[in-house]
Amino acid sequence: MIPYGRQLISNDDIAEVVEVLKSDFLTQGPRTPQFEEAVAAYVGAKYGIAVNSATSALHIACLVAGLGPGDVLWTSPNSFVASSNCGLYCGASVDFVDIDPNTLNISIESLKLKLEDAEKKGKLPKVVIPVHFAGQSCDMQAIGDLGKQYGFKIIEDASHAIGGRWDGVSIGSCIYSDMTVFSFHPVKIITTGEGGLITTNNSEFAEKLILLRTHGITRDQAKMRFPSDHGWYYEQQSLGFNYRITEMQAALGLSQLKKLDQFVATRHKLAKRYDELINDLPISLPWSDPRSFSAYHLYVIQVKYGELYFRDKIFHRLRGKGIFVNLHYIPIHTQPYYQSMGFKCGDFPVAEKYAQCALTLPMYPALSENEQDVVIKELRECFV
Ligand SMILES: *Cc1c(COP(=O)(O)O)cnc(C)c1O
Repeated sequence: MIPYGRQLISNDDIAEVVEVLKSDFLTQGPRTPQFEEAVAAYVGAKYGIAVNSATSALHIACLVAGLGPGDVLWTSPNSFVASSNCGLYCGASVDFVDIDPNTLNISIESLKLKLEDAEKKGKLPKVVIPVHFAGQSCDMQAIGDLGKQYGFKIIEDASHAIGGRWDGVSIGSCIYSDMTVFSFHPVKIITTGEGGLITTNNSEFAEKLILLRTHGITRDQAKMRFPSDHGWYYEQQSLGFNYRITEMQAALGLSQLKKLDQFVATRHKLAKRYDELINDLPISLPWSDPRSFSAYHLYVIQVKYGELYFRDKIFHRLRGKGIFVNLHYIPIHTQPYYQSMGFKCGDFPVAEKYAQCALTLPMYPALSENEQDVVIKELRECFV
């Protein structure tokens, strides 16, 4: 079986995790702050806060952005459900902005129009979550300008995008946003098994995120309302969660981070091979903005020609051959849970049309060229 994505774990990763298992701390030890500092330094942000998943990261980032009941969060329909569920966790309502057919990211034009309309109706979003689909950054400068103009907070969902850049600036530096969220699920660029991390340059946000990760509890004398000399004293100051990452995960993350650039380079090499070896087929290949250096989480083709449902036929045929192609994504608003909130098929037509012809081909650093050739051969046979 050839999956669409998977981790690449080497002996040095394993050794780092084993080291932690023999140490005093399995959680709340030194590896977590080391990992946080290393990721923050890599992307050029002041603070990094590691948690147990990107989903948890999105949740507490929304809380810190002040999102609550009566507020609205906007995101892209072409994403994993976590990008919008985080708004619902906070008791806010969510809405979507349709995508750009080239970048497959949130459309800046649609965002502008929707903001103008929302301003007239007095229903501006409190938070906008741009998603860097497949690893290619959204135009963050444009979104940052709109954020200033309309007063919304920006949380980048960079679950696909660590190691990528926009205009030479690392994704996660938060130059045009309030916070950026990364995922370390095994199919993503680097992994900690499960895990996520938030970067920010705002010290107040960083402090609040640290509190929310651990039950809203602080043990820092300087931050207490009722400072005490008792060693046993701690204070719960807000309603937080247990969203901590373990030391084993942080150690794995530190070890994987060393290989991040190499992983992204391999992804580019494989993507280039696909570009060259299937460009004669009646499909469209991924489009790259010249300002973008993508982390290339996904290689998505679009089957725009041929009979209706031809994509589905290709999908089933390849899966039948043990090639685990996939679809990224079923538009979030078409999920039954979202339809029960009033969203309908047809609400975001560009994302829906795209989802009918998209197909994610296997691509990950452990994919050999021989395996890639098998994928290419089987794909070509779908068109003869
Ligand atoms: C994977 C993913 C998430 C969720 O990440 P977890 O770490 O699995 O919680 C959120 N958003 C996007 C776009 C993702 O791809």
